Amino acid sequence: MSSEPVTGASSASSTVDIIELEDLRKEYPGVVAVDDVDLHIREGEFFTLLGPSGSGKSTLLQLIAGIETPTSGELRIRGERVNDVKAYNRNTSMVFQEYALFPHMTAQENVEYGLMLRGVDEQTRAERAGEMFEMMGLAGKEDRQVTELSGGERQRVATARSLVVEPDVLLLDEVLGALDEKLSKEMQIELKNLQQTVDKTFLFVTHSQEEAFTMSDRIAIMHDGDVAQVGKPLDIYKNPNSEFVADFLGVSNIISGTVTDVSDQHLVIESEGITYRVSTAGIADVPAEGEEIGFFVPNEQVVIGAEAANANEAVVADTVFKGPHTQYVLELENGSQLHAHETTGETLIEEGSSVTVGFEPSTAKLLR
Ligand code: ADP
Ligand code: MG
Repeated sequence: MSSEPVTGASSASSTVDIIELEDLRKEYPGVVAVDDVDLHIREGEFFTLLGPSGSGKSTLLQLIAGIETPTSGELRIRGERVNDVKAYNRNTSMVFQEYALFPHMTAQENVEYGLMLRGVDEQTRAERAGEMFEMMGLAGKEDRQVTELSGGERQRVATARSLVVEPDVLLLDEVLGALDEKLSKEMQIELKNLQQTVDKTFLFVTHSQEEAFTMSDRIAIMHDGDVAQVGKPLDIYKNPNSEFVADFLGVSNIISGTVTDVSDQHLVIESEGITYRVSTAGIADVPAEGEEIGFFVPNEQVVIGAEAANANEAVVADTVFKGPHTQYVLELENGSQLHAHETTGETLIEEGSSVTVGFEPSTAKLLR
């Protein structure tokens, strides 16, 4: 694999849906693991299920793989209902968490395994495995025992083992979770490049925002067995549709309160004794007076200084220097906090300083 960095979303994916889930549900005794999910994944996409532990990501992947059967709903691959189609008759292939390589086999035997099950002859198996070793940068490691491979190499062998059978969809469950941070970052780039090289649909599961944002064309944020939001990484980051998503992504200040006034262009919202003005530009269904609503302000949009709109007095509770950026936690008089993410200036604002803090009404986004 090449180590050329690639960024963000590719335009490689088509508009044809390869996987369609409709009202897909999986119950275990006492647990709804997947709660009536509707989701369409396009051919050639790098699509990620991102969510906290227990949100149903692995179960959803296993339903698609055919390892688990749905309780209700419909699952289609290439337009064909596959609810009752056995795993080995679906053209999907799974890379498991912790890889699940066969420890008593060599790297090559692991990679050839799926071809052997399919009755592919020895010579063809060796050729196809050879191509995989070449593509994955593993040439020369064919005869290694699994125990003689590094974490990154095991990850590549596991990916090769799943890809060699030429699935329509490669399913990957937390496959970078066991790697250290530096290796994980390298593998993120490798996996994205690999996906573009083989031009297949990758359905990736992770709880890591960084992994999801680095590799994915689109993301579904999972919450309690359901999809909370689907979209391109940047669109979700800029426009989380709920407090859960905004909070999970950790990008924003979330403020809730009561609408006390509605004008042509602004709402006035009272939140625990502090009044904010929020722009209504571009909002189709403007909330009414008296409504309880929430809004968020990205950390990057919080302004420290006397010129700030929506200004309030605050005390700097925390200053975290991060090199080019500095993060400030600002405590307002009502005890609530705003987080600001600023370009580091000549000097840092010291903890304990009294400042004015605010944000432009147009940078606040309503949560609906
Ligand atoms: P994630 O992969 O997002 O961490 P899972 O899909 O593994 O989440 O689990 C979703 C929920 O379903 C959790 O509450 C989990 O405990 C439950 N669950 C998953 N697999 C099983 C199982 N085989 N039997 C019973 N409960 C399960
Ligand atoms: Mg899981």
